[in-house]
Amino acid sequence: MKTVKDKQILVVDDSKFLAQITADTLRRYGYQADIALTGEEAVEKVCSGILSPGLILMDIEMGAGIDGAQAARLLQQCREIPIVFLSAHTEMEVVEKIRSVASYGYVLRGTGENVLISIVEMALQLYEVNSLANMYQQINENSLIEIYIFYLETFKFLAVNRGARENLGYTMEELSNMTPLDLEAELDLLSLKARLEPLVCGSNEQLLFNSLHRRKDGSLYPVEIRLQFHCYRGKKVCVAFVIDQTDRMALEEELWLLAVTDTLTNVYNRRYFTQKLEEEIERVKRSGCSFSLIMLDIDHFKNVNDLFGHNAGDLVLKSMAEMILNRIRKIDTIARWGGEEFVLLLPESDGNAAMVLAETLRRQLSQMEIPGVGKITASFGVASYSSGDTVDTLVNRADKKMYEAKSAGRNCVR
Ligand code: GH3
Ligand code: MG
Ligand code: MG
Repeated sequence: MKTVKDKQILVVDDSKFLAQITADTLRRYGYQADIALTGEEAVEKVCSGILSPGLILMDIEMGAGIDGAQAARLLQQCREIPIVFLSAHTEMEVVEKIRSVASYGYVLRGTGENVLISIVEMALQLYEVNSLANMYQQINENSLIEIYIFYLETFKFLAVNRGARENLGYTMEELSNMTPLDLEAELDLLSLKARLEPLVCGSNEQLLFNSLHRRKDGSLYPVEIRLQFHCYRGKKVCVAFVIDQTDRMALEEELWLLAVTDTLTNVYNRRYFTQKLEEEIERVKRSGCSFSLIMLDIDHFKNVNDLFGHNAGDLVLKSMAEMILNRIRKIDTIARWGGEEFVLLLPESDGNAAMVLAETLRRQLSQMEIPGVGKITASFGVASYSSGDTVDTLVNRADKKMYEAKSAGRNCVR
């Protein structure tokens, strides 16, 4: 145990003679030993950094100055340090004093150097283990990852870290009577048992899944959960590492919206529309329902730009998109196909219904007063899905119809 014996030990004793004996003993067993003759001297030397012992052997009763217990308390305020008391006294009063300080034990003077040395060694080893355990405890407690430990027999929580407690709004006292069933919105006992089965039978070392956690105030948050088994005092416990996905999902949603939205008009872009149209074609292939497209193109839009400027043109595009968006159903999709051309996907609408809507939109648009521009019109083409259609054939048909409307004099539906 060389690493342990490298440690410096400070002997604090008001008797120079006894201090020397203890120090000599320690040195004979390979330790480095320093001496302080009062509690004050020990506090001053350790707290100022003149000495940095790995352990302190502390006398209790020390003449006129502070006693060993007081010195220990002062030392522990400035440094984390293991302290072992060394005293010839066994009275209850002395024992009480020792017990009032967090220490690593008590050696009765004169019990023999073997006892002294083994207690010193045990204290040093225990301190090492405690320090490591404290560090892990701090890391777990302060981790941004929510950590839950629950018993496998009762599912009751044994420990829940700060991040989890604060997010949930429960105290540890409340949580100690709760189980994952109280936190996971859609979990019942049977599903929890089924979920843990791969860990119980040993086919999986770890489980990963997504779920929803319910806070004390009833609100829900999306979570990613990783489960593992560990042992605690001979019993199996389950450790859950939980990551709140709220921010990530909001970010993903934001990125997704950016990717599918036309920045000027805020309606969907061509890429999204094409994807949506593909999905709708697949859907009607199965359901046998009908759906239609409306393609529309603003009439003489170039003139708007030429007469009123590009910003006015932009305003026309935005106003028109907004008007259509307010007019269509939730299940309909509007997208900017390009320039001043827009396209609508109308699920569960046959050709007649689409013609009626196109006509309504045409009329409403032609009556709309756009600030700084006045009135505008658009030409509309309608196409309905028939079996065998693809995205291209359907869009081409709607486009052709729209050009027919242009040829027919614009501001009409074909
Ligand atoms: P038609 O009735 O035949 O459709 O005539 P048009 O003038 O509307 O058609 P054309 O294709 O000749 O012109 C389209 C114009 O739309 C030209 C282009 O500058 C304008 N444009 C395209 N995108 C935008 C945009 O984002 N903002 C503005 N302000 N103008 C745009
Ligand atoms: Mg046009
Ligand atoms: Mg055009």
